Amino acid sequence: MKDDTGKDLGAATRLARAGRRTEWTGMPDQPGGIVNPPVWRASTILYENVAHLRAATKDTHQRLFYGRKGTPTSWALAEAINGLEPEAAGTMLYPSGVAAIAGALLAVLRPGDQLLMVDTAYDPSRAMCHGLLSDFGVETIFYDPLIGDGIEALCTERTRAIFMESPGSLTFEVQDVPAIVAVARRRGIITLIDNTWATPLLLPAMGLGVDISILACTKYIVGHSDVMMGSVSANAAHWPAIRDRAFGLGQIVSPDDAWLALRGLRTLDMRLKRHGESALAVAQWLAAQDEVAAVYHPALPTSVGHICFARDFKGPSGLFSFALKGGRTAAADDARAALVDSLALFGIGYSWGGYESLALPVDPGRYRSATDFAAPGHLVRLNIGLEEPVDLISDLERGLAAWRRAMGG
Ligand SMILES: *Cc1c(COP(=O)(O)O)cnc(C)c1O
Repeated sequence: MKDDTGKDLGAATRLARAGRRTEWTGMPDQPGGIVNPPVWRASTILYENVAHLRAATKDTHQRLFYGRKGTPTSWALAEAINGLEPEAAGTMLYPSGVAAIAGALLAVLRPGDQLLMVDTAYDPSRAMCHGLLSDFGVETIFYDPLIGDGIEALCTERTRAIFMESPGSLTFEVQDVPAIVAVARRRGIITLIDNTWATPLLLPAMGLGVDISILACTKYIVGHSDVMMGSVSANAAHWPAIRDRAFGLGQIVSPDDAWLALRGLRTLDMRLKRHGESALAVAQWLAAQDEVAAVYHPALPTSVGHICFARDFKGPSGLFSFALKGGRTAAADDARAALVDSLALFGIGYSWGGYESLALPVDPGRYRSATDFAAPGHLVRLNIGLEEPVDLISDLERGLAAWRRAMGG
């Protein structure tokens, strides 16, 4: 999005303006209008006459045609997310992040193809490779997140796509996205990224040459832990395939959910800054505690892939994990549970990216096949919400005290 003089508008400005077309916020015969596109609910669209009906069938994209093709509420959200990636030709919405990943992979892969999938992928993405994709005759080869341009050695005539997720789920290794993109471009391989952790605000993945950018909007876009949604943005070469597959699969989001996601999106820039600053403060505090063996946040210089993080990312976000000392014994597992149970400000639950902090025991080693993760102890993943970081640190202080008691110290 540019201003009248052709200058690119900043992210926060784009978030405030995007998707507010006058035809979605006003009445055709009245000047002015409301600020936000309202909730347009529809299955049937009524036509003026048969000629109008026939004309409407010719171009159904972002036009009132039938409810399954969306209404201005979902188009406004898709347009706003699309505007986060200047290279994106279009964005489709899905009823969850997993549906978005499936929709993107089913759009680009054909039976007989090979997919290169990062070993630190979100577990349901892994499961999709073993289940859905394998059933459809696609072979998956998992690769080391730190492979960089070494990915060339895994590419064959049958390699159709490379899937990245950076930083990786649970352990937060940062990938060398430009190096992988360079290999893929040279060999005509399609690149996809699950960019949920950073969003395009912190990692402009398509600007680094990635073809297809996927978000679990459930997390930071919605930001309030009350809507499930996913999105896929694609460049001009891949947008028609993404769009047609999503329509073919009948993917649609409810207008109420789209409206809530659009409301969340307006504050994404300031929320991400706060999540990131607070997470870094908590991560640095944890790294200095005697009970903690390691902290896995990409913004810490000790983290794996930090050089790529410092080069490619515009800032930290709020999800990271840490390992406790005491090894990986059953007693230490109980002590980890005591820590998590004793926290008052951190909820215990899946998902993340909401305004409220969460703590979750995680065991990443189970979800790997191409690499080993040598965990020094049991891990806890934290979603740092919008609370005061000093309060979160006091809560974690209590948690570490509970851990010490449980360890008999
Ligand atoms: C949560 C998550 C997803 C899936 O999103 P859902 O909306 O829960 O289906 C995908 N990728 C990552 C990295 C996630 O954290």
